[in-house]
Amino acid sequence: MKEQLASPAAAIVRPAVRDGQSYRPGTTLEQARREYGIERLIKLSSNENPLGTSPRALEALKNLGDLNIYVDNQYQELREKLARKLGVGPENVTVGHGSNELLELMFETFVDRGERVIMAAPTFSLFPQNAQLREAEAIEIPLKDGVHDLDAMADAIDANTKLVLICDPNNPTATSIAPAAMERFLARLPADVLLSFDQAYREFMPDGVDGVALAMRRPNTLVYRTMSKAYGLAALRIGYVIGQADAIGYMQQVRLPFNVTRASLVAALAALDDDAFVERSVKVNAEQRERLERELKRLGLFVYPSAANFIAVQVPGGANRAYVDLLKLGIAVRSGDALRLPGFLRITVGTPEENDAVLAAFEKLLPSWKSS
Ligand code: PMP
Repeated sequence: MKEQLASPAAAIVRPAVRDGQSYRPGTTLEQARREYGIERLIKLSSNENPLGTSPRALEALKNLGDLNIYVDNQYQELREKLARKLGVGPENVTVGHGSNELLELMFETFVDRGERVIMAAPTFSLFPQNAQLREAEAIEIPLKDGVHDLDAMADAIDANTKLVLICDPNNPTATSIAPAAMERFLARLPADVLLSFDQAYREFMPDGVDGVALAMRRPNTLVYRTMSKAYGLAALRIGYVIGQADAIGYMQQVRLPFNVTRASLVAALAALDDDAFVERSVKVNAEQRERLERELKRLGLFVYPSAANFIAVQVPGGANRAYVDLLKLGIAVRSGDALRLPGFLRITVGTPEENDAVLAAFEKLLPSWKSS
């Protein structure tokens, strides 16, 4: 604190920023190279698509033009295309610079200082980070057996509550919510509490809560989706939010103009026509997820049931140590110690070959983790 006050900016920065933290992304190749001299990295640290990018999107990007011209600020073409796919109207959807931006935009649009915001713990790190930044009162309800404890979350709602944040499947546990539990929760949720439902990994869920139908049925409900995962467009930053026209309209009013680039629009429009790529991504993920879960359990490890493109596995001997040992073998995963899930690793489901390497590394390293 003293050190910070010695800095001119620290003397004037908002306390919520001074006391906050930056988002911590998963290990990148650049970082592995710098810190461990790794040249070839199996990157399973950020839940990206191991099959790459929709080939149709790559093709469309080759003809990218009009870079001197601002995009259509209404994003009409993309909103119409998304709406058709989702079975909603274009007034029910808007797009952003990744779904991360839309989450922040929702806070900016709806949440005032001091209002109560209810979320799980652990959940996606940007939930508490945004609440803290807006000086809201974050109430964190521990997961129960790795799943959102919706009964306890409903119990925490008071007259000052503005927002409930739910991540389904949840990052970092990969668990999903049973539709019946969601219905019980909805019956207890007051109409003037905003429900913010992050479904970044929805495409990988075998079944579960239909967020879009929920947003169309219940006012004050916002559902976030992204093209970063199943469509393989993480670097282009494109997410979308679905809700009723009034809520979407307010978000449209607040968002920055031209918040999605022409490159992102062109790629997104093409990727939405590429059902084959998404289907293949989902299929490979489902097969490989099942295999990883099965093989890690065979090694005697606990794995949460995953509905996403990553798994959370408990390791003996400490998660940070396991993370470093794997990185030295050229495999980047996330340590749960950094995600408020101590003792677990969060591992993106990779290609069959990448998962071969993960399982071989576990076989090799597990005895040393156990004996520590
Ligand atoms: N929500 C959750 C739960 C996530 O795990 C992620 C990926 N880190 C995102 C949103 C971010 O998605 P986007 O790339 O669209 O900003």
